[in-house]
This record gives sequence, structure tokens and C-alpha cells, in this order.
Amino acid sequence: MKISRAYKAELKPNNKQIGLFNRSIGCARFVFNWAVRRRRNAYEWCKTFAAYAADDIAEYDELRKRFARSAVPNRVVQSRELTQLKKEKLWLKFPDAMTLVGVIRDDVDSAFKNFFRGCAKGEGIGYPRFRKKGCHESFVVNYQQTKVEKDRIKLGKLGWVRLKRWGYLPQDVHINSVTISRRANKWYVSIQVDEDIKVTTPLGKRLGIDMGMACDSFMTVTEDDGKTYRIKNSLPLKKYSIKLKRLQRGLSRKKKGSKNWIKWKDRISRTHRKIWDIRSNHIHNATSRITYDSSVIAIEDLNVKQMLEMGKGEFGVHGRRRQLSDSGIGEALRQIDYKTKWKGIKLIKVDQKENPSTQTCCKCGNRKRGSDKLGLEDRIYHCNMCGNVMDRDENSSHYLMTFAVVQTGSKTPVEECSEGIPEKQEVGPGRPGKTDTQLLGMPKQKIEKPLTGRYINEEVSEAVIAA
Ligand SMILES: [Zn+2]
Repeated sequence: MKISRAYKAELKPNNKQIGLFNRSIGCARFVFNWAVRRRRNAYEWCKTFAAYAADDIAEYDELRKRFARSAVPNRVVQSRELTQLKKEKLWLKFPDAMTLVGVIRDDVDSAFKNFFRGCAKGEGIGYPRFRKKGCHESFVVNYQQTKVEKDRIKLGKLGWVRLKRWGYLPQDVHINSVTISRRANKWYVSIQVDEDIKVTTPLGKRLGIDMGMACDSFMTVTEDDGKTYRIKNSLPLKKYSIKLKRLQRGLSRKKKGSKNWIKWKDRISRTHRKIWDIRSNHIHNATSRITYDSSVIAIEDLNVKQMLEMGKGEFGVHGRRRQLSDSGIGEALRQIDYKTKWKGIKLIKVDQKENPSTQTCCKCGNRKRGSDKLGLEDRIYHCNMCGNVMDRDENSSHYLMTFAVVQTGSKTPVEECSEGIPEKQEVGPGRPGKTDTQLLGMPKQKIEKPLTGRYINEEVSEAVIAA
């Protein structure tokens, strides 16, 4: 299967190169703001002109759209204008040619597309905003002039830059795009490459997974032999919130722009980076753990927006929202999606409207309705029909597991399985190596086949499935 995969690696630029990167970011920001302003002015002109020419509101809308189509410059026009601009402002010739073209082709164009799409749908998406110094610190370079070696990477005009970790980036592959970015004073390069991976049909466990954000369990996993374990929530933001508060308070006492102020600002961004790293590592570990020796996975078909809605009450909207984004469930679902595809694992998404896993008894298939329904605060499932008493998450993951075992989306797999769960399939060869027990917060004896360290680390890359 052909996939498009992204690798992100830290760079070790020298001072001169850092200067070059900063200048490139500055030029990209200038061109972005210039292009947005040009379009914005043209759009305002169209509105004014239409208002003069039209007699009623319908005609105004019609005229405004017609003018906008011809008067607001598109990316082709603006690319041409950019060439002219470069003749006036000679310093714009400094960065990689792709950097500035990329700003217009990708960033400005998509910002406006989103804006117009939002307008058409009636959503309140604001006008594309100007870029400020200090946010959106990234730029693209010419991928055709990019070359990867074991310990360094050639970034077009900017020359060879050393890599922090040797041999991580793939060499001799076709590169589709190269982006350089900064986060908390560290520089990163992301490259997107085409890869051909061999997808086999794995013979492994069949799992049911209940995703949660309340309490401390992130995922509750039930294997087809009935064994259940929990993967804990890492919630790094919660852990570091006191430290962050202290730092923020310290910053407010410093004089803005002073050396001390910069120092504190740096500390805050380092803490944010740490939080991000912990969360990202935890999610990658968890999703790798469940996909490395399984053949079928059944999960709830969750919509993050729905989860936010249903969370009202327990923590309050804001607390719930923070908890949700802190646990990273959305990111975990995305990773499960692509990792199962890459490994040939069958992923069954169980519709929660038809088969609400939290409300259904995993033993007899009885579904709670109306006032009998389990609320968010109820942690134990009591079944009225068969007397089953179980932890809420375990019940849900057991129920989902039955879907994985039956391998269909049929309505009540519980009945089909009631004579007993089918015999276990043969498990593929395990991977020897270090355990990830401490990272996942699970007791040691529960892991049969641990992941290798290499396996975990290499997963730390963004990935997109190509059609
Ligand atoms: Zn029951």
C-alpha cells in the first residue's frame, strides 16, 4: 500500500543558521500579511461598490459575489505580484523561493477558502487574521533541493543543517514537502515522504476498547479471552498546571521585554513543550500497544464534539473541555485509524446511537433506556435482567469486544456469542525488548508481549494516509 508519511526531527542549527531561519520566518510573515491585506482591501472595495450599484439586498449579494470573483486576486495573480514585489523589496530575495510562494499557495489560499466556506455555511468564521511575531513560526523550503544524509539534511538555499538524532529520517526516498518550524526555541524539520508498506492480514487478538476521559482510565481494553486491562490517563496539563500558574504569575511581575521577562517566557514555553511531549508519547505508546498484536479492534464511534456535549455537568464545560483536550482522545482516535490501516487490522466503529456500549449489558445484551440510563457519575453497571454487576468501562469494553469477535456490525453480537466466545486465533510472532509498563501505568505482570523501544520511538511521527 502506498502511504504518505511524515517524519519530524529536531535540528541542530548553528548561530548563523538560526539567523537564516529567523529571517525566513520574518519574510514569510511579511508576505502573508501583504497578501491578506491585498485581498482584504479588494474584498472591501467589492462590498462598497455593490452597495452603491444595487437596489435591494438580493442584488447586492449577487453583485458582491460577481465583483469578488474578478477583483479579489487569487493565488496565480498574487504569485505574479510577488515577483514584482521582490524587485521593490530586495530583502525578499533572501529566503528560499519556495518559502514565499508556499505562503501564498498554501497558507493564504487555505485561510481564504476556510473563510468563504464558513460564510457560505453561515458559520461565524472570522476574516483571516494577520500574523503576529511569535506565532505560526514555520516555513517551507524547496523539497526538490532537499537531501537527507545520516547526520545532516540539506535544506535548499539554507545549506546543510545537522540533525540531532542520526539515521531517523529516511534517505533516498521521494520527498513531497519540507517544513521547518520552531517550538520553544527548538528547531524542527518535518518531511513528508511516499512510502510503500506491505500490509499483511494479522492473526492476533480481537479487542474491544472503551475510550474514557472521566476518572483516570484513558482506554479500557478487553481481549477476546476475557482479559481486561486499563491504560491510564496521563493528563500532563493537570500535573503541570500549578507550575504553569507560578511561572505565569512570575512573568506578570517582570517588565515586558526585559531580559528577565524573556527568561520567564522561555521557561513557560519549555513547560508547554514538555506537556506536549508527555502527552504525545503517552498516546503513541497506548495506540502502538493495542495495534501491535491484534487483528480486529472494535471501538465506539465517537465524535469529539459529542463528547464535549455529554460532558456538561460533571466538570463544567471548561473543565471537561480541558480534560478532553488534555487526555488527547481525538489524537488517539486519529492514530488508531491510521495505525490499523497500516497494519492491516480490521477496525470496527460501533455506532453509539444504535448500540450504546455504556448502556448495554455485555452478558445478556439488555439495554438501559430512559430514566434507567447510566449517568456520567455512575461508575458501576447493574443489570436488571441478569443481575450482572460490573465496572462501567469494563462492561462497555466487554460489549465492544463481542463486536470484534463476531467481526460484523450486526445488532446484538452478545446473543451470537452467548454459547461462549469462539476459540482464540493463532497469535503472530511477538517482539522481544523493553517493556512499556511504566509509561502506560499498568501493572507489570499483565503484559505478555512487550513492545521494543525502537518500535515505540519510531512511531513518534505525524502520519497521513494517502488515498
Ligand atoms: Zn444483563
